[in-house]
Parts: sequence; structure tokens; C-alpha cells
Amino acid sequence: MARAWYLKSRPEGMPTLDNFELRSLPLPSLEPGMVRVRNLWLSVDPYMRPRMTEVKSYVSPYALDAPLDGAAVGEVIESRTNNFSPGDLVSHRLGWRDEAAAPAEAFTKLPASGLPPQAYLNTLGMIGATAYFGLLAVGDAKASETVFVSAAAGAVGSTVVQIAKIKGMRVIGSAGGPDKCALIRELGADAAIDYKSPGTLADKVAAAAPEGIDVYFDNVGGEHLDAALTHAREGARFAICGMIGMYNSTEPVPLRNLFRIISARIRIQGFLVSDFRDRFDEFHQEMGKWVAQGRISRRETVMDGLEAMPAAFLALFSGGNTGKMLVRL
Ligand code: NDP
Repeated sequence: MARAWYLKSRPEGMPTLDNFELRSLPLPSLEPGMVRVRNLWLSVDPYMRPRMTEVKSYVSPYALDAPLDGAAVGEVIESRTNNFSPGDLVSHRLGWRDEAAAPAEAFTKLPASGLPPQAYLNTLGMIGATAYFGLLAVGDAKASETVFVSAAAGAVGSTVVQIAKIKGMRVIGSAGGPDKCALIRELGADAAIDYKSPGTLADKVAAAAPEGIDVYFDNVGGEHLDAALTHAREGARFAICGMIGMYNSTEPVPLRNLFRIISARIRIQGFLVSDFRDRFDEFHQEMGKWVAQGRISRRETVMDGLEAMPAAFLALFSGGNTGKMLVRL
């Protein structure tokens, strides 16, 4: 019998621990072609919040009274297929639980890179690919251009900062608090904005980028997006990756500077990392090289034990993580 977190009720506004319940999860018996995995690391991601509502999106909403899911890495403990053997490390999407049993197609063997397995939930996985394609393909960012990235001390944001520096861009990152700003600078950013310090975000962006910004990598939405619009240079590109600042909003968030899209000929494009699935080999090659050269460092915040999963998830919305939020089992 496994244990899994279930969605007990749909959050309104900021989720609470009461929205979740840890229950026993009977696993299917292992038929031919199936694999049983003990999870080692669970991914904790902001996109899970929109899935907790009933609103139709690019992924189906989580069902009530059903186990939650998400990315995870684990170790094969039983296999009824020749493709996997006990001890193999795999990534898959049956997170929020301690064990999973499913057809072999649900699992992907991790490469024998010598790196810790959780790297494949971070810079070498979905997080790294989001940063890479969002910045270089969607944002079309080029050497010597000025890039502004929000939530820059988080998983995607901290990776964007590092890729942009490797590619010779000028980088401005924003995050909440002086410690996170220090980290952003340590990662190579030319300027860091503490959006929680006194003063308007628009003034802070203007001070950090007096000539304006060429690319905005949006992880936050709302006031950040508005400030980026105000200070966009002509022909700027906005890669809209996420809007974590709005995931718990119960009221519409006003944007005051939309006319700048016209006057500055800004291209705004939302994207999903899965849009670039057919280019993942390119990403793995380039990112693998940077990681091996020590040019991309992996930041993570780790909470321990399956019990910690909802608290880790809630902490995303109060800035409780630097780098990738993970739960270690
Ligand atoms: P992060 O590691 O960046 O964690 C979330 C961070 O967001 C927090 O640490 C906090 O940092 C910041 N934050 C939370 N609430 C607010 C707020 N109200 N205003 C400003 N900042 C806030 O998460 P990820 O790197 O995993 O994800 C970043 C974004 O990318 C999310 O919006 C996510 O949905 C999106 N995403 C999109 C993908 C796609 O395919 N389009 C794929 C993966 C992620 P601080 O202390 O600085 O406030």
C-alpha cells in the first residue's frame, strides 16, 4: 500500500493545508509490462495551483478526492518488463506519493551522468528547458541585449539569469528581499531589484535599465509585467512563462500600460515548455555541456518527507524557496 496526497477541497485564494489529505493508495498488482517505483524526490511547482481550480487549462484540473500528481524521480523496485531492472533511476509524473506502479511507458530512465537524480527535476529537466527555450527561442534574446527576469531567485528564473550571462546579455533580475537579490548577483546578474523594498517597481526597473529592456522573461505577471511594459525598448520581446503573482488572486489584476505594446511594437508571446519537445535533444546537449563545465549551478530548497509536500507547495507563494523547491523522501 502506498501513501499519496489527495485534493480534499478546491482552494479559494491562497491554498491552506486543509485543502490536502494524506491517504493510503492501493497500488495495482504488477501485471506484465509494468514497473513499481519508490519515489526519491518530488517536484513542487507553481503550475499545480491553477490545476487545483476547475478552470480548463492546458492540463486537466486535478480531480477532487483523487491523488495529486506531478514530476518525480524514483528507483525501480520491481519490474515485469525487460526495459527496466530494480535499481534503475527513473523520472515520471506520479509524484505527491511515495510509491507508484504503472505501465513501463510512464517511466523514463535517467542517463548515467553521475549527477544527483534531482538535477533532472531542475536544470537538466523541465525547469532548465523552460528557461532555455523561453529566453532564446520565445524571447529571441541576443548577446549585448538587456534581459529582465522576474522571480529570478526561483528555479526557472535563476536558470534564465545564468543562461543569459553565458550568452553575453546584460541581466536584471527581481526577487523578494536582500538575500535573494544577493544570490541573483552571485549568479552573474548585472543588477538585482528587490520588489518588496520601498518604492515603485517601475522606478526600480528604470534605474536598473536606463536604456530600457529588450527582453522580459515573465514569471510573475501583474505589476512586474506592467513595469516591464513601461520600460520596454522598441521591438522588445516578452516571453510569458508564468504569472505566479496572480495564481491566488480572487480579483482581476489591472494592467495600466498596455498601449506600450503598440507604441513600442512589443511582441508578447506565451509558451509552454512542451511546445519545444522536438528540440529537447538540443537542450540536453547544450545544458549538459554547461553543467559539466560548471557554468550553470543548480540551486535547490529541500524539505524532507512525504508529509512536507503541501507545506512545500504553499511556501512557493510566500517566497519560501530559492532555486528549485523539492521534497526528498
Ligand atoms: P519558483 O522557483 O520561481 O518559485 C516561485 C517564486 O515566485 C517564489 O519563490 C517567489 O519568490 C515568487 N513569488 C511568489 N509569489 C509572488 C508574487 N505574488 N509576486 C512576485 N513573486 C512571487 O517557481 P518556478 O521556477 O518553478 O516557476 C516560475 C514560473 O514559471 C511560475 O510562474 C510557473 O508557473 C512558470 N512555469 C511555466 C512553465 C511553462 O512551460 N510555461 C514551466 C515551468 C514553470 P520571491 O521570494 O522572489 O517572491
